[in-house]
Amino acid sequence: MSLPPPGALGARLFDGHSARALKVELRREGNQLLAQAGERQWRWPLDQVRWPERSREGRRVAELPDGMSLHALDNTAWDGWCEVHVGGPGWIDRLQGSWRATLLALAGLVLLAVLTQQWGVPWAARALVEPMPRSVDQSLEAAVIDSLGPPTLSPTRLPPARQAEITAAWEAAKERLDRSLARQGEPASPALTLRFHASRLGPNAMALPGGTVVITDELVALAGEDMPLLLGVLGHEQGHVQHRHGLRMAAQVGLLSVLVGSLWGDPSSLVSALPLWWGQADYSREAEREADAWSLRLLQANGLDPRAMVRLFQALAAGRTCAPPPADCAPPAATGADVLQTLGFASHPAPAERLRFFEQAAGRS
Ligand SMILES: [Zn+2]
Repeated sequence: MSLPPPGALGARLFDGHSARALKVELRREGNQLLAQAGERQWRWPLDQVRWPERSREGRRVAELPDGMSLHALDNTAWDGWCEVHVGGPGWIDRLQGSWRATLLALAGLVLLAVLTQQWGVPWAARALVEPMPRSVDQSLEAAVIDSLGPPTLSPTRLPPARQAEITAAWEAAKERLDRSLARQGEPASPALTLRFHASRLGPNAMALPGGTVVITDELVALAGEDMPLLLGVLGHEQGHVQHRHGLRMAAQVGLLSVLVGSLWGDPSSLVSALPLWWGQADYSREAEREADAWSLRLLQANGLDPRAMVRLFQALAAGRTCAPPPADCAPPAATGADVLQTLGFASHPAPAERLRFFEQAAGRS
């Protein structure tokens, strides 16, 4: 085997037409790559040569203009020659060869995923939902209502007079809130349609996207004569409607499904957007904060003590499912198993933070 002269590298040249290779010697001359086979010579500008990435295995093939290519005879010699005459491996090559860089890239990817999930998706969902007409919320609600019913919800056992009393108290409270909003130049709050149901979910209320609020008999029993408590809950649910959390959550899950689908290549996850929404283990903390803030506005516009909500959290925490003195206490509601709970009050943990929010507001007023 004849060694190429110093500064030259032996390689095989394919002309892109025939399968026959020509043995050549490569040299660099200024900004040109020179290949020589006996009397024949080829020249290419260096910046038109696509050098291969340098993996440990893998064949070294440099792509040339006109479909020609150069194949290495010996990887080690090729790499050494390239290092001297073309420049060391590019930063991509070096990164690929480094496990530290690989770990770093992986950490970066995880961080990006977390940021996207935490902020990117909610931001995009908000931007997506904002221009949608309210009728979209209503059609989403129709889909949700279709999925409700026994055994989750059953006909209410509340006397019609009690239902009318709560509805009237709510309408009056909403009117006072709207007057206060008007004074601040804000539009009226969304109208709610109250629906009473007995439910195995226990004391609970859930806002559907179109403004229907389901109130369980168990919640009414828990409130007893404490109407401000019920109004606080209804204010919270109105907050969910006001901020269109239902549609935003659906959009978020939809976007997440698209992202996940594009990462894992499973388009069927798109179809599962709505069930995923239901299955969401927690209604985002941000949504709860917004709904609580709205509840506070309603209470304050009505001159009611924000401690009404503190009483609710305390009663829920105490596991009371009805207020004394009524004797027909329901057994404590099963928790955790019902997807519907994700929307309702029982599923909203009453963490110290939310309790503090209303207590501090009470302290200020
Ligand atoms: Zn809520």
